Amino acid sequence: MRFPAAHGIRAIVFDLDGTLYVCDEFAALIQEAAVDYLAGVRGESRDDVRSLMAATRVRLAEESGTVQTLSAVCAALGGSIPALHAWFEQQLHPESYLVRNERVIDLLQRLSKRFPLYVYTNNNLGLTTRILELLGLADLFSAIFTIDDDWRAKPDEERLGQILARIGRAPAEVLFVGDRYDVDLRLPEQTGCPIFLSRSVDQLLRLAGLIG
Ligand SMILES: [Mg+2]
Repeated sequence: MRFPAAHGIRAIVFDLDGTLYVCDEFAALIQEAAVDYLAGVRGESRDDVRSLMAATRVRLAEESGTVQTLSAVCAALGGSIPALHAWFEQQLHPESYLVRNERVIDLLQRLSKRFPLYVYTNNNLGLTTRILELLGLADLFSAIFTIDDDWRAKPDEERLGQILARIGRAPAEVLFVGDRYDVDLRLPEQTGCPIFLSRSVDQLLRLAGLIG
């Protein structure tokens, strides 16, 4: 984790799922909704598709040398990423799982008074909006970048460049915060951005001390 002097930071880009909230139960439901979707597309049993997805994830990771996203696995197995997300919007109910955390709200509120904050996620805009509302974070971001902007899943160098251009700051001034190094942080780090890996609310709250 590389973290420069706090005074160099002028914007913060947060991943959403697993970063601004952590809920293993909801994460498992996202995986199962993808199994359901691909079972329908392929006309195979959910058990077969679950095994196939696991094997495909391993194969793609070996071929590419990096961790593979659900989007990549879905596309490799003949699914359509827009159709997968339409299915997610219809099937997933974060309202039943996510609860707001006042300490996270307080942290983000304080940070938002000092820097523009952004969300950059492989989730879609409909679910992202619902999740941010549930978490009490809906009005704290200057812009939200979701997969349905252009259906290019993270990690994607061209998309990252577009987002940095939109933020209008040098890479060294834009801190990226995420729970998966390979998906959220590797490319920003290679581009010259500071990064912060956070896999729990406790780790996320450490940002307050690091930024001061
Ligand atoms: Mg994440």
